[in-house]
Amino acid sequence: MELTLQQRLDVIRENIEKAAGGRQVILVGAAKTKPAELIKEAVQAGLTAVGENYVQEYREKSAQGAYEGAQIHIIGGLQTNKVKYVAGRVDLIQSVDSAPLLMEIGRRAKALGAVQDVLLEVNIGREAGKSGALPEMLGSLLEAAALTPGVRVRGLMAIPPAENSRAYFDPMAHLFVDNTPKKYDNVSMDFLSMGMSDDYEDAIRAGANMVRVGTCLFGPRNYQ
Ligand SMILES: *Cc1c(COP(=O)(O)O)cnc(C)c1O
Repeated sequence: MELTLQQRLDVIRENIEKAAGGRQVILVGAAKTKPAELIKEAVQAGLTAVGENYVQEYREKSAQGAYEGAQIHIIGGLQTNKVKYVAGRVDLIQSVDSAPLLMEIGRRAKALGAVQDVLLEVNIGREAGKSGALPEMLGSLLEAAALTPGVRVRGLMAIPPAENSRAYFDPMAHLFVDNTPKKYDNVSMDFLSMGMSDDYEDAIRAGANMVRVGTCLFGPRNYQ
């Protein structure tokens, strides 16, 4: 028998709890392609954070009240010309990977009298053509963030290579821990966001305290 959304959420939460061993882990429901009604149902069932990849989808579903009662995170690659639609309006932008993007987010948030929380996305698998800053660029990005009013870095995010993703969780956790004690203005290393439907429990065991789960929660995506 097929599980209800409530049951799927409960199963995921149970799995998270087991893997976390008492640590607090934030579940972000990755909602790309999914309708506002389904997201509302998940929030009603207790989901506390929703992630969207595409600004257009975020805007449409936001207008439909899809995220009311939950946090909304941007988790997909963000183009500079779309920053104005999200900066200062969403709870967290997880996918920041360049200084120009940081600066535009800061500029737009500041204009609204807001400070935008962001995560820096790391291309931990060093994949060509993929989003995320290379690990050796992280230091300069943190320095840039320290000089940028209107943004506050809250941690790191990664989407490791799909094949053998688990091999990248430990290196990512090390990067997170290594940068935690470094003191920059506007930076606090609170969140390590990694792990998706296929591997979130392993990501948590490696140190993630934020996971982004789509398929396991909302069902398979249908790209037409
Ligand atoms: C789609 C997506 C997810 C969720 O993927 P699933 O495998 O469906 O859980 C997580 N993070 C990002 C950035 C995504 O684009």
